[in-house]
Amino acid sequence: AKKAVLGPLVGAVDQGTSSTRFLVFNSKTAELLSHHQVEIKQEFPREGWVEQDPKEILQSVYECIEKTCEKLGQLNIDISNIKAIGVSNQRETTVVWDKLTGEPLYNAVVWLDLRTQSTVENLSKRIPGNNNFVKSKTGLPLSTYFSAVKLRWLLDNVRKVQRAVEEDRALFGTIDSWLIWSLTGGANGGVHCTDVTNASRTMLFNIHSLEWDKELCEFFEIPMKILPNVRSSSEIYGLMCLGDQSAALVGQMCFQDGQAKNTYGTGCFLLCNTGRKCVFSEHGLLTTVAYKLGRDKPVYYALEGSVAIAGAVIRWLRDNLGIIQTSEEIEKLAKEVGTSYGCYFVPAFSGLYAPYWEPSARGIICGLTQFTNKCHIAFAALEAVCFQTREILDAMNRDCGIPLSHLQVDGGMTNNKILMQLQADILYIPVVKPSMPETTALGAAMAAGAAEGVGVWSLEPEDLSAVTMERFEPQINAEESEIRYSTWKKAVMKSVGWVT
Ligand code: ADP
Repeated sequence: AKKAVLGPLVGAVDQGTSSTRFLVFNSKTAELLSHHQVEIKQEFPREGWVEQDPKEILQSVYECIEKTCEKLGQLNIDISNIKAIGVSNQRETTVVWDKLTGEPLYNAVVWLDLRTQSTVENLSKRIPGNNNFVKSKTGLPLSTYFSAVKLRWLLDNVRKVQRAVEEDRALFGTIDSWLIWSLTGGANGGVHCTDVTNASRTMLFNIHSLEWDKELCEFFEIPMKILPNVRSSSEIYGLMCLGDQSAALVGQMCFQDGQAKNTYGTGCFLLCNTGRKCVFSEHGLLTTVAYKLGRDKPVYYALEGSVAIAGAVIRWLRDNLGIIQTSEEIEKLAKEVGTSYGCYFVPAFSGLYAPYWEPSARGIICGLTQFTNKCHIAFAALEAVCFQTREILDAMNRDCGIPLSHLQVDGGMTNNKILMQLQADILYIPVVKPSMPETTALGAAMAAGAAEGVGVWSLEPEDLSAVTMERFEPQINAEESEIRYSTWKKAVMKSVGWVT
């Protein structure tokens, strides 16, 4: 067998909502050498609840690492060349575990989960001072989406969690913290930490001072002793981490003010780098920490538009309606008709996130006729992802003042060519996709490889200038695009106020 000649390698754990992956990159060329992926189960114990098993998530990480190393072995690549491992993860998802036994005290409460709706209502009645108390410190609206309210729910409702807190055995973390603690020794000296990007999504973290905020912890009644230490996004903790959307921003090389990317996974997340300025949105976007690539490096911020349900609607068509067997099949169905035939699908399964922040919304499929079939519904589901992105982009353009000239994209759904073409049509700007779509993992690997003490990756923008891109140009006329978009908005209005 031929002996591969390689520079130092960097691995990345990419722990998403749908699946876990481990990927290994060549740090000199950013080439993806090998990877393995395992799908993660989601449990829906009650209407609106979404949980995952933290042990299954951890196990999936081990399995992906093992299988990838086997594949590298088959390629004759020596795994001792792996110099660092980065972590990127689904954000906000909340875990509390016992530091003495290493056992989770409850399932992970997933970011999409809606059980905290009444917690949010109660809290919003007691916001101290002006209504801006939470948003001005965190950049986030008070919503079921973020970790603080999920943690509040666990403290209020789960006896095992209450007892562990009283007995000083409880640790809280988002998925990055849970994984890093477990991978660095767990109950035998695991490192309890998180990075600024993940911390910025808990709603307990002050995005100006970059510290846990005492007043917020008092407001949410969260004991500060259970919170992880907050570190930069690129340093040796044992390992390093970045929230998945920040990792994608880095992986897409969006280091300049005004550069943006949209990731199409379970949800859709459009982040625009605002540089060292913390920009607050007037149009329903979040202000969040983009990255801080080193202990002594400056913090960069982003404006973010988050859409709760994107790929999740495809998974729903697969698992709940059974009209497809695999997510990829959606493309075939949609292609058969090439139109939704007036059918609109608003997948507000978890309410609506940006720019509406409407917890009262629920999903609707409307505009049905006797003629409508599963292909039209499939098409409408894809179109819904594109319309939701359009709403975010419009908000982003209004907040930033300078419209984006094209959209850089990545994530599992971007393998779907119909979706990408539809997106270009509906945005009416070109959509640009790197030929290596694993930019989230790449970003985590870059942050890990560039960390002080590792130093096998330099984060110079020209590093990736050779990356080949696929471009999708708008193909319909602007008027048609506008008509479809305005009908979509009508459908959105019908989904709002469904539950009270
Ligand atoms: P996450 O990071 O949230 O786990 P991924 O980026 O791995 O998500 O993307 C997985 C999501 O994309 C799933 O919800 C899946 O249904 C959807 N998906 C994957 N492939 C396709 C495809 N070809 N067309 C449409 N949706 C797809």
